[in-house]
Amino acid sequence: MDNMSYCLFGSSASSIFTVENFVHENLHRENPILTNGTFDLCCGLRDLEFIAPLAIRAGEDLTLTCRYNLDNDTLYSIQWYFNHKQFFLHFPRLNPRYRVVPEMHIDVDDHFDMSPSEFRDALTMRYHREPTAMPKSCDGCGAPNFTLEHALCCKTGGLVTGRHNEVRDVLGELCEKAWGNTVKEPIINEEGPGLRGDLAVRGVWEAQREALFDIRVEDTDAPSHASRTVRSVLISAEEEKKRKYLAACEQRHATFTPLVTSVDGVFAPQMQAFILMICERLSEKWNRPYSSIVGWVRSRVSVAIQRAGSMCIRATRRRWRGGESLLGYDDGVSDELMSECWFVF
Ligand SMILES: [Zn+2]
Repeated sequence: MDNMSYCLFGSSASSIFTVENFVHENLHRENPILTNGTFDLCCGLRDLEFIAPLAIRAGEDLTLTCRYNLDNDTLYSIQWYFNHKQFFLHFPRLNPRYRVVPEMHIDVDDHFDMSPSEFRDALTMRYHREPTAMPKSCDGCGAPNFTLEHALCCKTGGLVTGRHNEVRDVLGELCEKAWGNTVKEPIINEEGPGLRGDLAVRGVWEAQREALFDIRVEDTDAPSHASRTVRSVLISAEEEKKRKYLAACEQRHATFTPLVTSVDGVFAPQMQAFILMICERLSEKWNRPYSSIVGWVRSRVSVAIQRAGSMCIRATRRRWRGGESLLGYDDGVSDELMSECWFVF
């Protein structure tokens, strides 16, 4: 029988909370995991609560939550144990704040972690300042000035597409949790040049009706938008998407919703409505307060957008080329040369 436990340390006095007879079987086995939460509380922490689902299927995410009250003490660390082996450490004051023991094959990434440069980039994008330590030129298109504006719009190297896909994947994951049966990149119209959306989900706005979505991450600070407000830029992008997709979606008896956000995480009105719809659904499904779900979903999407924005600034656009062979010949002639060499040696 396997046990899961965790230790919670305050900065002055330490306290230990043990959860016995908890998650049985391996987290990745074929059979559903069964849990039996018999908790043994040891020291003077208040309002302790341990939250875990009673059973999940293999391969699904499992969220383990501990709530604690240290009064005026500061949290020093939380350490999780599985079968008396440590698999996750949280040190709020250190960098990185989280450490995972990979041997346990447990993914405890909460997707909220940002590296120092991602965090600084997120701030510079939000306040439209020039990021620090910028390269002098673009390694993708060779533009001589690698500014924030260029980093956010240069399509060479696929980083702008990667940013869009990051947002699509996060929203797709949330839709899967909320409604299930989410399809990525559904084909809306196969005739002519073809038309493809980003997500298809059944039952979002109306029962059993397919809802199609297309995502755009807009740089609202681009020079072409200089004379306009952020809101008007985002609404124009929504209208443009509707002109492109709405008729084709209605032809398929589906609804269409443009999901537009700025590069620094300002949501257009329809994106905002969609996020709240996800929250409402998850709140009902998980029986959790709507307000806490709204905070979690907004933060989850916002962090993903900002990390994707930082990727456009920091990631490499140019592919690395291997060095030329030190032996002085290419693969195409190597056999002949090698046969010559054979006789020489
Ligand atoms: Zn470029």
